Amino acid sequence: MLERVPLLEKELEQYGNVAGADTLAEIREAAQPLRGARVLHISATAYGGGVAELLATHVPLLRSVGVEAEWQVLHGSDEFFAITKQVHNALQGADIDWTPPMQRTYLERILDNALLLEDGWDFVVVHDPQPLALLHFLRDNPALAGESTRWIWRCHIDLTVANPTVWEFFRPFVELHDASVWTMPEFVPASLKMDRVEHYPPCIDPLSVKNLDLAHPFCVELTRQYGIDTKRPIVCQISRYDPWKDPVGVIEAFRIVRDHVPDAQLLLAGSMATDDPDGFRVWEETEEARAGDRDIHLLSNLHQVGSVQINAFQRIAAVMVQKSLREGFGLTVSEALWKGRPVVGGRAGGIKLQVIDGYNGFLVDSIEACARRVIDLLADPVGADAMGSQGRERVREHFLATRELLDWLRLLGGLR
Ligand code: UDP
Repeated sequence: MLERVPLLEKELEQYGNVAGADTLAEIREAAQPLRGARVLHISATAYGGGVAELLATHVPLLRSVGVEAEWQVLHGSDEFFAITKQVHNALQGADIDWTPPMQRTYLERILDNALLLEDGWDFVVVHDPQPLALLHFLRDNPALAGESTRWIWRCHIDLTVANPTVWEFFRPFVELHDASVWTMPEFVPASLKMDRVEHYPPCIDPLSVKNLDLAHPFCVELTRQYGIDTKRPIVCQISRYDPWKDPVGVIEAFRIVRDHVPDAQLLLAGSMATDDPDGFRVWEETEEARAGDRDIHLLSNLHQVGSVQINAFQRIAAVMVQKSLREGFGLTVSEALWKGRPVVGGRAGGIKLQVIDGYNGFLVDSIEACARRVIDLLADPVGADAMGSQGRERVREHFLATRELLDWLRLLGGLR
């Protein structure tokens, strides 16, 4: 079998205070016909990145309403993940050479994984392009496809300008599925032919270690341990070291900020995912751009930056930045807004769903605009706090795990 991801237990009841009793009642009603259903989520990796973050909450919540849910990850290899990373970039618009040997390595590895899959699932949800071809190898297996098992592809990335060669390779695999789920309608390529195409933005778990309330002195102490001065303003971006997240652009914007706010500090924290061999290269580029600046702090999970530290950094920052050039959703934006911080975000993908320009943060298209908005927010801490509070309410309404749970229960119930 594929590798099972061990999960914490979560109880729906505990979400009543943040999500409201009405939402919980709707969830219970939608879950009723699915009690005992077997649901398998498959993704590339159990650690690092938004998909892992989502499933660590979604799967336990499905269990807490009586669904027999599991999360399993692919058996990959460095070569396979290097290829799927290129596919990921190509589907977001990068120009790559999609060679027959790459295609063969990809398909062979997926076939190996398909042969390891146990049967007996009512629903299989496949996340992102890495496991996408699984159904192709299983479509004639009555115990894993056809009437017995409904397959859904969840695409977390923006395919608006997908590389046509790579997309045409993957499109037939998508179309084998019973439904596909996208973050935004505009991400769906016009060429996709499917009866059931849904759009649900992802969400954050308000009770996870990443997001639960932390006392201010605790945040101060955790941040101080990294040599950061919590008495001076902190500008912070949390994201993987990935060119689309533009960490070097954030450093350039910060240099402009510091011309106006000399005591400002920048904190960039990003995990290195196991399916992201490119991460170390971008880390080195970012380190080079930092050029030994003692007020620019580059951290990663290698410095023991885990969920609790991220939580503290997002609370202690004066301004959060998510200067992505391209973005699926950008969970980090909702995470920051939930903590009452305003966000200066790149005008890209799902960031546009979360940040309402001038209301809970700002949308920017350039290094200069990013710098200007950060400077304005640093100059007006009261206004920044007010924007942050508005951000928290926007997340409560649209981007909590309970909303996503309800969307999925309704979709699965409708596919039975
Ligand atoms: N994250 C983390 N540690 C880090 C950097 C990021 O735990 O050092 C988390 C971050 O808090 C968020 C997720 O990884 O929950 C990133 O999700 P997002 O949708 O922002 O971007 P993705 O990595 O999926 O492109």
